[in-house]
Amino acid sequence: MRRAAVAVIGGGVMGASVAYHLAARGQRDVLILDRAQGPGLGSTGRATGGFRAQYGTAINVRLSLLARARLQAFRDETGVDPGYVQAGYLWLAVSESERRALDAGRRVQHEAGLHEAVAVTPEDIGRLNPAIELRDVVGGAFCPSDGFIRPLQILEGYLAAAARLGVRTEWEATVTGFRQAEDGRIHEVETSAGPVSVDAAVNAAGPWAAAVADLAGAPIPVTPLRRQIVPTVPCDLLPPRMPMTIWAGDGFHLRVRDGRVLLLWPTPGQPGRPFDVTVDPAWIEAVTAMAHARVPQLRSVAIDHSAAWAGLYEMSPDKHAMLGASPQCPNLYCINGSSGHGVMHSPALGQLLAEIICDGSATTLDVRCLQPDRFERGALLPVSEVL
Ligand SMILES: Cc1cc2nc3c(=O)[nH]c(=O)nc-3n(C[C@H](O)[C@H](O)[C@H](O)COP(=O)(O)OP(=O)(O)OC[C@H]3O[C@@H](n4cnc5c(N)ncnc54)[C@H](O)[C@@H]3O)c2cc1C
Repeated sequence: MRRAAVAVIGGGVMGASVAYHLAARGQRDVLILDRAQGPGLGSTGRATGGFRAQYGTAINVRLSLLARARLQAFRDETGVDPGYVQAGYLWLAVSESERRALDAGRRVQHEAGLHEAVAVTPEDIGRLNPAIELRDVVGGAFCPSDGFIRPLQILEGYLAAAARLGVRTEWEATVTGFRQAEDGRIHEVETSAGPVSVDAAVNAAGPWAAAVADLAGAPIPVTPLRRQIVPTVPCDLLPPRMPMTIWAGDGFHLRVRDGRVLLLWPTPGQPGRPFDVTVDPAWIEAVTAMAHARVPQLRSVAIDHSAAWAGLYEMSPDKHAMLGASPQCPNLYCINGSSGHGVMHSPALGQLLAEIICDGSATTLDVRCLQPDRFERGALLPVSEVL
């Protein structure tokens, strides 16, 4: 039978990061198992590549600050450029309550060490992004060290660096079950390519993580949520370093990537079809109308319907990651539920989970508030509708 000390289920950015960090800490015999034909076919390949530390809870700010330090060293560490560009995130408020929510978030950010996040007036906003229609805007928030990253380059960097340290990766290997002892501990992972005897397993299955956890009788509340994106045709109307610009009230946002403007607006997803990633033509009409009203210059650029795409966020009930051992299965580790922030937080979460697996607890950051059993304990983190 094949053998691995740690089997990492899922070779997206989370699985690649934790596998790399395990190997970098000296863990031998790490095996990534992924049912896809190759890298980047899960959510990681569909992400737009935003990076921010402007969050509403201290833990998310701290995860971003740790991730940011790791991204700044990423090329030296892995040999691949993570594409981190500090173009900033600009949040816009069109009501006093939205502005108050951004102000409350900023207090948390400053306390957690993100000192460069500032309040901005409509005049500041006009300077930071002159394309915005300012008529309804009452204020906002800006952080210059937020910006952009390249999800597939981060995935490639971690996979390549992990491979150099001896991590093996098997594609087209679907995990179909576990063999467990009476106390729930896993000793064998069953896959479409045959069983693997293991000492521990990591659930890094992104939006499909709940199904993997169910196979071990250790349910976790991760649910998929469709996110849609539509680009304009190639154009140079808006500058490539325009900050990510987000309307705090409804989450409509836009950025420039690879010579196109990407339009995004979160919606609830498909009732009854949670894994459906088709793009709704009515959504494209609605988001285009929002863009025309809020960024008048975009009225002169065509939308490229054929280039629209959708993917799945991996939602947790409090929109924060779950990190650590499963309560029902002590050698099945979760790195799940990042709720749409997984690429940016992957350098931090992978490092922290490797510390938990190798040392019993994370030392770089106190992440006990992310323990997967917090939902059963009623210890949910506060959810901000804005940040
Ligand atoms: C449209 C969109 C935009 C986004 N934008 C951003 C952004 O700007 N910034 C950001 O940080 N994040 C963003 N995200 C979120 C980000 O993509 C995810 O948080 C992140 O990619 C999660 O990584 P992962 O490795 O957990 O999941 P995935 O990349 O989905 O990897 C999971 C892997 O598990 C494998 N798998 C599943 N089940 C099994 C099984 N039974 N056996 C074997 N393998 C299995 C899958 O094949 C897959 O490769 C965005 C997401 C979407 C959809």
